[in-house]
Order: sequence, then C-alpha cells, then structure tokens
Amino acid sequence: MIFADLELKINSNLGKEILLLKRSPEDFLKTILVVGVMHGDEPSGEYLINRYLQERNETKNRLLFIPCLNPDGLTLGTRGNSNSVDLNRNFPTKNWEITDKNDNFYGGETPASETETRMLIYTIDRYKPDLIVTFHEPYKVVNYDGPAKEIVERFSEITGYPVQQDIGYPTPGSFGTYCGVERNIPTITLELPDNETKDKLWESTKDIFNYITSF
Ligand SMILES: [Zn+2]
Repeated sequence: MIFADLELKINSNLGKEILLLKRSPEDFLKTILVVGVMHGDEPSGEYLINRYLQERNETKNRLLFIPCLNPDGLTLGTRGNSNSVDLNRNFPTKNWEITDKNDNFYGGETPASETETRMLIYTIDRYKPDLIVTFHEPYKVVNYDGPAKEIVERFSEITGYPVQQDIGYPTPGSFGTYCGVERNIPTITLELPDNETKDKLWESTKDIFNYITSF
C-alpha cells in the first residue's frame, strides 16, 4: 500500500507505467521532487521511495515522487531506455551533443527526444521544485549541481557518504546541468552503493526523507 496521490501517469515505449506521485498538505511550504531509476540498472531508488510511501508521515512541504523514471531500462536491465538512450544525457542543455549510438552514454538523436525526459521537463515546468533529489548507483557519494552546498552537506552527514563535487568527466545533456547549472535549482545526486542489503540502504537514507519534509 502506497500513501500518495497519483498526479500523472504516462506509458513508456514498452507500455509500462511511469508515475508521478504526490504527498502534500494543503498549505505547503516548498516543493521537492525525488526521482528514482533514471538508469535502468540502478533499481534501489524505487525501492527507497516506495518504502517511504508505505507509511503515512507528516510533511510541511509538497513532495513529488517519480519512483521509476525508466521502467523499460529496468525491465531490460540496461542503463538506457528501450531506445538505448541514456536519459541523463538527453536533456536540452547548452552543452548537449550528438554521440555514437553504440556509446553507453548515448544522448539520443535530438535533445529531449525521449518520453521519459519530456515527462521530467514537464514536471519541473509545472511544479517548479525548490529542490530535486535523484538516486543513482553505485559510488556511495553525494554530489550536487546548482546552489545546494549546504543541503548536500546535510545529506552527507545523514548518509555518511562523502560529498564529491566533480565526478571527473563531462556530462553533456545531464539532468544536473539542466536543473542545477542552467535553472539554478538545487539538485542533489545521491549515489547509493550497490552491494548493501535493502534494510541497510534504508537505514542509511531514511532520514533524507524526513529532512525533505521540512527543510
Ligand atoms: Zn546512474
């Protein structure tokens, strides 16, 4: 049982549902967007979001969740979606570039060519989040784009994962560049480890969810 309102539901290329869920008081303060499974081979974000939503917790802020942005990649066990596009390279940023289709980081034929990318762009335009959190794997670090230095330090304290500002390679068309760099929205990337039990992951990250209800 999930305690949240369904805001939006679209279908992926393979006909799977992509959900936008909301938990919010009537008079909310800020809006926070949390996104899981941007990469299909990084499933833990969906688990953590759904685990949080299984309990009815209070929130002062409007919380929006896309538990699984890339259900096709999740089904196929691939980083990209069913078109082999890395969604984290498909955003219409100034530095988007065409890359080899066989590349693991293939950014699509055009910026925002993919349904999943457009759903996320729509969500940001429509709800104007004050903070965005995305789950990735497997590096066990937190990094950020945009004005999120203090927030990322809290995330680091909560999880025990170190802050890593530069991941060491360029990321044209990335979600962090689109939201954080070009729109000045604090955007946190939480890189989960891929070798811990679900209970241990939950223990390390559950206070992140408590933090975003009232930060
Ligand atoms: Zn990832």
